[in-house]
Amino acid sequence: MGLNKFDDCLGVKFADAAAIRRKLAYLCRPEDKTPVEAADDELWISNGTDVTKFLSSQVPYMREPMNSLPRRIYDVVGLMGPARSGKTKALVEGWINYALTQSPGDMLLIYSTKKKAESMAKKDLARCFSATKGIAKLRTGRKSDDTLTYKHFLNGMNLNLDSATETSLSAETYRYVACSDYDRDDDGVGQEGDKFSLMRKRVQNAKSSGMAMAESSPGRLVRNPLPEEKLGAHEAQPCGGIAEIYNQGDRRRFYWLCDDCEHWFMPVFEVLHWDDSLDNDIEISKTAHVKCPRCTHIIGEDQKQAKNLEGRWFREGEIDQYGEEVIDEGQIRQSKWATFWFEGVVATYQSWDELVRLYLAAQRQFDTTGDENKLMSFYNVDIGRPYILQAQSNDIGAHELMAKAVDYPRAVIPSDGRFLIMSIDVQGGSKNARFVVQAQVFGVGLQRWVIDRFEILTNPNRNNERVNPAVYPEDWDLLIEQVIKKTYPLADGSGRVMKPAMTLCDSGGSSGERDGKKTSVTDFAYQFYNRLKPKGLAHLFRLVKGASRDMDSLVKESYPDKRSKLAHGEIPLLLLHTNRLKNRVAASYTRLEFGSRYFHLPKWANRDWYEELTAEYIDDKGNWVCPPNTSNETLDLCSYAEAGMHQLGGDNINWDSPPLWATHWQLNTNVVDADVTPEFERKPKRRYNHSKGIFG
Ligand SMILES: [Zn+2]
Repeated sequence: MGLNKFDDCLGVKFADAAAIRRKLAYLCRPEDKTPVEAADDELWISNGTDVTKFLSSQVPYMREPMNSLPRRIYDVVGLMGPARSGKTKALVEGWINYALTQSPGDMLLIYSTKKKAESMAKKDLARCFSATKGIAKLRTGRKSDDTLTYKHFLNGMNLNLDSATETSLSAETYRYVACSDYDRDDDGVGQEGDKFSLMRKRVQNAKSSGMAMAESSPGRLVRNPLPEEKLGAHEAQPCGGIAEIYNQGDRRRFYWLCDDCEHWFMPVFEVLHWDDSLDNDIEISKTAHVKCPRCTHIIGEDQKQAKNLEGRWFREGEIDQYGEEVIDEGQIRQSKWATFWFEGVVATYQSWDELVRLYLAAQRQFDTTGDENKLMSFYNVDIGRPYILQAQSNDIGAHELMAKAVDYPRAVIPSDGRFLIMSIDVQGGSKNARFVVQAQVFGVGLQRWVIDRFEILTNPNRNNERVNPAVYPEDWDLLIEQVIKKTYPLADGSGRVMKPAMTLCDSGGSSGERDGKKTSVTDFAYQFYNRLKPKGLAHLFRLVKGASRDMDSLVKESYPDKRSKLAHGEIPLLLLHTNRLKNRVAASYTRLEFGSRYFHLPKWANRDWYEELTAEYIDDKGNWVCPPNTSNETLDLCSYAEAGMHQLGGDNINWDSPPLWATHWQLNTNVVDADVTPEFERKPKRRYNHSKGIFG
């Protein structure tokens, strides 16, 4: 809008008012597109590296949830579904696009963490906003209007991005509030209470034009599952998070129509079938197909898209038990919350053979190790269904385990034992400082026995004073003779002994104080490892540390270099996936029948030992939690031993031809004859082989 009219009387140039009006008319142009139409017309979305056109025909099951967002008869839209289904793009980018171009109003977008919010703003939203014309021309171009967490647009709309905190969810008023990946963060917000209630409060002032939306794959464990017949036809098992929001609404589920019997059915995981008789997972997964639960008519994956296009959402009660549509509104669940749930079988970007492969691998891990982690994430993320905990370990108490205890001698290697692992728990603190040590033997098929448990309480080199691993570095040296070099006699009475294959030791623990200076267990642990190196004992000893549950492996060897001035990247530290290790331990002691990975619980151990083994419980996110002021040393020590076994390669042993350290006693490299002094030290390798031929 240049200055193009010259006023002869005034001698100045004026802009043309009509031109300005025409140019900015789009800002107040009434639109009547639905969110799906608006997205199909204009929306471009990030595909991770670039942008791609959003097409609702690719994710037809997202049309009804999207179009429910502007409906004034609804207060809430909630959607529970699997990953790789396009649900987030449709409900977040799709909604922003609709709000900005059709129905402006301030919006708050909640992510699981602030970091996630910023990274979404930087990548996905930035790409989407510049590629989508309708949004691009609404940007003001001012830096202050386009920060990572706040965006202001020409039509007056504000968009805030944040995580769920007491500040972000209090006081301010919005017209729209959305939460992406609802279950990746806690349901509660600080002291303020329920996250979803707080979200809804923010849009209350907007009355019926306000809307709160939450979408997520489920992430809560079902602790007390109800029998199927007690659940409503579309009801999810009771648990927190997105499933709870879904259950409170009108519970819509996505249905397919069978071509053969012409009845509606839910494409849930149970209608997916495959041929188990084939050799390997790849071949098995290729046979994946859907069978109509009524007439067993087969639907191939090539028909998935067509089925999705003609598929329909039905509220609870809208489909009867015969798969026929119910017209009588009185029988249909009514709610101001439009809530949706579909499963991985319909997800556009998740193939059926991939689903089957993931399932087979997860189920196998559970069957062999008792570790439910993979199965849990398969059901939650890939299927989109809240997971029902299989293991009953939560309900087993110390007295029940004591009743299962087996009588075998203490401090003796049992006749089927093949290798020995020592575990050390380090207790600093002013009151109860000590080293807690446990000896665990693994045998054929990874059956296990705990054969000894003792504490190191006093240091003879310091006048038998009380040890404190957090205060006296020299106390750590006691571990060499009393743990690393400890041997146990074999059960056959031959006088032979077995050396530990490995010793694992906690590297954390409370800090102490000496001569007014702060001391740390971690520093002393690193120093101790450095002292073991010149002695040739370092290969027998590993420090461990619990890591976050996002770690992809069970045990990972790392070399910390930044955290400690003592480590210099030369000290191996085993990072433990504590959750999965504890799952394995619990699975082994809850096994009822003797077999592989069976835990021979010790009769010689006292009640405290069993109390410590069963001290922790699994919370609704699948994490092991130790109640405050409760001892859990036994469980920790057993999970260290499990980690050591795994690190040595125990999980991959072919028991028909085991490695020498796990073979029968006659050839076992850790078994020492009666008249021989056990050797532990590894001779340092000579760095150079000086030729003696010429000079010597
Ligand atoms: Zn059928």
